[in-house]
Amino acid sequence: MYDLIILGAGPGGMTAALYAARANLKVMLLEQGAPGGQMNNTAEIENYPGYESVMGPELSQKMYDPLEKLGVVNQYGIVENVEDHGDFKTVVTEDARFDTKTLIIATGAVHRELGVPGEAEYGARGVSYCAVCDGAFFRGQEIIVVGGGDSAVEEAMFLARFGKTVTIVHRRDELRAQKIIQERAFATENINFIWDSVVEEIVGNDKRVTGVVIKNVKTGDVTEVAAGGVFIYVGLIPHSEPVKTLGITTAEGWVKTDASMHTAIPGIFAIGDVREKELRQITTAVGDGAIAAQEAYNYVTSH
Ligand code: FAD
Ligand code: NAP
Repeated sequence: MYDLIILGAGPGGMTAALYAARANLKVMLLEQGAPGGQMNNTAEIENYPGYESVMGPELSQKMYDPLEKLGVVNQYGIVENVEDHGDFKTVVTEDARFDTKTLIIATGAVHRELGVPGEAEYGARGVSYCAVCDGAFFRGQEIIVVGGGDSAVEEAMFLARFGKTVTIVHRRDELRAQKIIQERAFATENINFIWDSVVEEIVGNDKRVTGVVIKNVKTGDVTEVAAGGVFIYVGLIPHSEPVKTLGITTAEGWVKTDASMHTAIPGIFAIGDVREKELRQITTAVGDGAIAAQEAYNYVTSH
């Protein structure tokens, strides 16, 4: 029986593990991939206090390093379900069951797909959702980035180091990204914009992507733009399937909590991007993690 099991080792989950282990709880951190979560797919992070700039995988490693020394059990597993038995909870993975007094859901979010013809067919053959993983493959090529949020614009700037040109295709005539990020993109010579437009199809020669078909939503004009790579950043969907049966999610799948990270089920908390919240950032995930660990400690010691 663990005192606390944390589902997901992104920045939120790793911070919760740090605080809970330092409070002497018996903690398991359960993760289906490499620790770091979305930070592993992020090139440069420039808004994490203490760093002018840090690569996502480096910050992931720095957050992970102290955990083993503190006695956190790092367990690989894909969480499939969570059972609430009142005084204890059971986490079910594909091949194991773990009992715990408290649970923190820190499973984050995953990129949304565009859902257009060619996207699945050319996956790993020109279509990507991760500039830091795949950007270098497109050295000297024309690159398309779809979306207008922080991810699209920031990752476009990273891609501009490799691509001959990077063209951001956005469905409106104004970006959603933070102003400071926008200004840098506007000042980057090889970044272009196609406004008021959506990608209708990703086309290729059966082996690789060769371009995208774009429709202007105001004029209805359809054009084909040549490109070797298409990077898609059109938002996030919550990673909350394993906790769906608990009845603690919104219609869109975000987990509902109060300001102390409590869900409606005593002993179950949620933090970071999977939580219904306004600002999804590393700093906010980290803050949520510290609060939830403290609440889990209070729960364990008072029950
Ligand atoms: P995540 O980082 O999403 O981690 C969740 C973890 O849970 C993952 O490791 C996942 O594998 C695991 N998991 C999910 N489901 C299961 C399951 N069933 N079983 C086991 N494990 C599971 N924020 C900033 O502050 N600054 C930035 O510069 C910045 N850049 C970004 C760039 C991009 C491209 C993206 C996509 C996001 C960026 N963000 C940035 C946002 C930031 O990365 C997230 O807000 C943050 O990572 C959320 O942390 P989290 O711990 O809640 O979840
Ligand atoms: P986001 O903020 O939800 O932006 C998604 C973008 O994609 C929006 O511009 C949206 O257009 C567009 N879009 C959505 N569906 C589309 C579709 N079907 N076709 C075409 N375009 C579509 O998502 P995000 O940029 O991935 O950011 C996710 C979270 O991570 C945010 O909270 C963000 O702040 C955070 N993040 C932070 C940083 C940072 O702090 N440096 C960096 C990256 C991400 P509209 O604008 O018209 O809605």
